[in-house]
Amino acid sequence: MRMSGAERVAILDIDIHHGNGTQQIFYERPDVLTVSVHADPDRFPVFFSGYADEFGSGAGEGFNVNLPLEHGSDDAAFVDAIAAGMRKVEDFGPDVLLIALGLDAYRGDPLSVFEVTTNGFRQAAETIGAFNEPIAILQEGGYPCPELGENLVAFLDAIDG
Ligand SMILES: [Zn+2]
Repeated sequence: MRMSGAERVAILDIDIHHGNGTQQIFYERPDVLTVSVHADPDRFPVFFSGYADEFGSGAGEGFNVNLPLEHGSDDAAFVDAIAAGMRKVEDFGPDVLLIALGLDAYRGDPLSVFEVTTNGFRQAAETIGAFNEPIAILQEGGYPCPELGENLVAFLDAIDG
């Protein structure tokens, strides 16, 4: 993978918190597609951003996609949103897709408001992998809980397959 030669980059952030910093950095750029799947920020950090009507601005309009989910969302809702995000990525046609892999959507995570299971992370990875985009994974959060390592392994195993 020629990361240094990538001209079009997509970022898919599946951490339960909105990827507010990433959104802010690239909000006016059409060459970087930012997609975030996260808990509805109306009652969840970071509160001030992550709403579905934040599309990007200027030249970047249409290149920011927020997919907030209701609190209590399960594997099916999580994976469906990731699939929707991946269809946006596919339409964009990036040279590389960066996965911002936060594991705090897990139901046992101390900060989670979702019901995502270890199998949900496996399904998420299979869904992402099925699109055959060139990917790089950046591991983010996931707060201490006994299953954190297991969830990471489930995701990495499935995306590798
Ligand atoms: Zn997080």
